[in-house]
Amino acid sequence: MIQNAYDLTIIGSGPVGMYAAFYGSLRKLKVKLIESLPELGGQLQALYPEKYIYDVPGFSEIKAGDLIKSLKEQMNTVKENIDIIVDERVDYVRRRDEDNILEICTEKNCHYTKTVLITAGKGAFQPRTLELPNESNYTNIHYFVNDMKKFANKRVAIFGGGDSAVDWANMLNDVAKEVSIIHRRDDFRAHEHSVEMMKHSKVNVLTSYVLDKVEGEDKINKLYLKSVKQEENKEFIVDEIIVLFGFLSSLGPIETWDLTLENKALLVDNNKQTNIKGVYAAGDSSTYEGKVKMITCGFGEAVIAVNSIYGYLFPDKKNAPVFSSALKNK
Ligand SMILES: Cc1cc2nc3c(=O)[nH]c(=O)nc-3n(C[C@H](O)[C@H](O)[C@H](O)COP(=O)(O)OP(=O)(O)OC[C@H]3O[C@@H](n4cnc5c(N)ncnc54)[C@H](O)[C@@H]3O)c2cc1C
Repeated sequence: MIQNAYDLTIIGSGPVGMYAAFYGSLRKLKVKLIESLPELGGQLQALYPEKYIYDVPGFSEIKAGDLIKSLKEQMNTVKENIDIIVDERVDYVRRRDEDNILEICTEKNCHYTKTVLITAGKGAFQPRTLELPNESNYTNIHYFVNDMKKFANKRVAIFGGGDSAVDWANMLNDVAKEVSIIHRRDDFRAHEHSVEMMKHSKVNVLTSYVLDKVEGEDKINKLYLKSVKQEENKEFIVDEIIVLFGFLSSLGPIETWDLTLENKALLVDNNKQTNIKGVYAAGDSSTYEGKVKMITCGFGEAVIAVNSIYGYLFPDKKNAPVFSSALKNK
């Protein structure tokens, strides 16, 4: 019989897991947060800490790294109920027959809990490449932008047509010597506001072009682009190349836990519970009709999940206060 099992264990400490830990602790749950990377913050901290986010409520703009810093500060206000474990990847979850407690095992330890909230995002991510032969040998191809200073006064070519490509084109425009964005289609799949901003800037926008070949040894120094519309082909000199074609992602071990999946995400009900009782999911890991993969939606899902978990753990106290003002004064 396991004594002192946690009320709630959260797998994955991206923004959604961090906020869920804060809110769970605010609701006086005993919470454990397990993260496979050495630091908290998920995609925001690992992939785009310097990128501005324009759609978090209450902030006209905030750097992703600063949002994570604020979430840490918010968690610290109720830290007495939260245990944080980093550098441990959860490999499996199983329910123990003897006491109905859930056992969560990483490669290092097993953890015991009454409920689980999976906020593991898309799991481990792998960037899509340009598919050049020996692409990994070139030292000036980047798939993440961790430090904008690297691109100061450089000629930068960005490949991609989504939000991250457009956002980085806008942000590097003031830092780099020259920014070109190369996209195979005419239209960008990015926020209209950001696309407008880019088109009215000095960013060199090259639509309907694909990469034909490159020149250079350790570093690529020249790009040859082919028009997909039989227009004039282009060639130009570059110092740095950023490839933002998105990621191949896999939930990894989570896919083998007998949880119902749809489009590689965990299908949840209105309470954010998966097909397994006591196992919930929120954020990019989860899906349901109308799901939008955004930070703000993940925060809302975390609140719904934690309140459902509270009801599951304490069915008699379902109507306990849920607002922070009421909870803080308890
Ligand atoms: C370049 C880019 C720009 C973006 N811009 C915006 C934007 O402007 N606005 C917006 O709303 N959204 C944006 N997004 C999307 C946003 O980042 C995601 O919606 C958000 O990160 C989802 O948060 P999450 O906490 O669900 O998952 P994640 O941030 O993916 O965090 C999941 C965490 O779980 C951990 N994990 C995974 N598997 C395990 C395991 N087995 N054991 C332990 N830990 C595990 C991972 O290491 C990771 O830290 C952007 C995404 C990208 C890539």
